[in-house]
Amino acid sequence: MKFYSTNKNSEPVDFMQATILGQAPDKGLYFPEAIPQLEKGFLQKIENLPDEEIAFNVIRPYVGNEIPEEKLFRIVSETINFPIPLVPVNEFAFSLELFHGPTLAFKDVGARFMSRCLGYFLRDQEKKVTVLVATSGDTGGAVANGFYDTKGVEVVILYPSGKVSPVQEKQLTTLGKNIHALEVKGTFDDCQHMVKSAFTDAEINKKRFLTSANSINVARWLPQQFYYFFAYRQWQDKKNAPVVSVPSGNFGNICAGILAQQSGLPIRHFIAACNVNDIVSEYLGTEILKPKQAVPTLSNAMDVGNPSNFIRILEIFQHHFPELKSHLSSSCVSDEETLATIKEVYQGYNYLLDPHGAVGYLALKRYLENHLGEKGIFLETAHPVKFPEAVEKATGETVELPASLAELMQKEKKSVLIDNDFDQLKSFLLQ
Ligand SMILES: *Cc1c(COP(=O)(O)O)cnc(C)c1O
Repeated sequence: MKFYSTNKNSEPVDFMQATILGQAPDKGLYFPEAIPQLEKGFLQKIENLPDEEIAFNVIRPYVGNEIPEEKLFRIVSETINFPIPLVPVNEFAFSLELFHGPTLAFKDVGARFMSRCLGYFLRDQEKKVTVLVATSGDTGGAVANGFYDTKGVEVVILYPSGKVSPVQEKQLTTLGKNIHALEVKGTFDDCQHMVKSAFTDAEINKKRFLTSANSINVARWLPQQFYYFFAYRQWQDKKNAPVVSVPSGNFGNICAGILAQQSGLPIRHFIAACNVNDIVSEYLGTEILKPKQAVPTLSNAMDVGNPSNFIRILEIFQHHFPELKSHLSSSCVSDEETLATIKEVYQGYNYLLDPHGAVGYLALKRYLENHLGEKGIFLETAHPVKFPEAVEKATGETVELPASLAELMQKEKKSVLIDNDFDQLKSFLLQ
């Protein structure tokens, strides 16, 4: 399988090069030249297939023979060695719980898959790769955990000081070894800005081979398709395909779902569930994509003012607006509505949502109110304990720490404090 750049000014590359490069040299995103179609019979037998078998079948056409089959099978097995259950909340909404991985958010799957692929591709090389990421919270933890102790890979994570939750901070500052956390006196946007400058800095690039580990990277983006297959496998009413609501920020996750649908997975409709950062909602109304300054919200992993993966969704539908609109709706949820939803679902159905899942649930509920008789799934993208303040505010009860986290919270934080000053990042990377 070849991947072309959405800007069409770089050469197509194979999966290995796309994984190592991250972004295309022309700053486009890599996109598969053809969308593989599911084999006949795959969906008929899906209920009897183990998760790793499903995942292997889904990803293999994209990887081709660049990773031998047994090795790829082992990579997917290690990637998804935790449950992804579909839990009924009430008669119309089902929660796909993506938070049972090591850092309690859905990004674990992509980070674990990408780190193992990169480790494989770099197995005999002298050269080290530096994964450089800015995080508003969840990405950093998943990347730190996923890449911990991966041979040939150094990880440098920038996070805004005082702006990530205590659990998130421990997840990215306590591992050590090849994981380095830089605590920046600034905002997430400042961190992001510094990372972008590093990618274009000649001196740094002479000294280090930099790559990114956000959902721009195909090896992090593509395995997110697995969730939708696991959801379908557990969906009882196979005659009526589900509507799926995806809490969205950078639009990598939902785009992977649409890709899965285009390869033949039965999904009736997608809902991009957003907070007040409404760029895509506006686009669906006006056909004009206008990036904005991100507004901070309770569902902070979705505070994105210029969703980088949206271009891939346009690519799937070949920039044909009516086609796109028939597959995708969007709904925006305020912080007040998020808190009210957490409360309502907790009191009414005894199910505890995190702020991101709450956005997903309410967007689904609104859609189903206008489509009577349909049922749906929302993705619960993080464990409520990662956002204790919001959840406690909504329910009036404290969220209990799972045992694994209690241990983490005891560990010592190790980070390097830097100013919002590119030169300080640069000297760190050059030393
Ligand atoms: C990253 C993240 C999202 C948004 O996912 P995208 O792929 O960027 O749209 C939603 N919820 C949580 C908890 C996240 O960490």
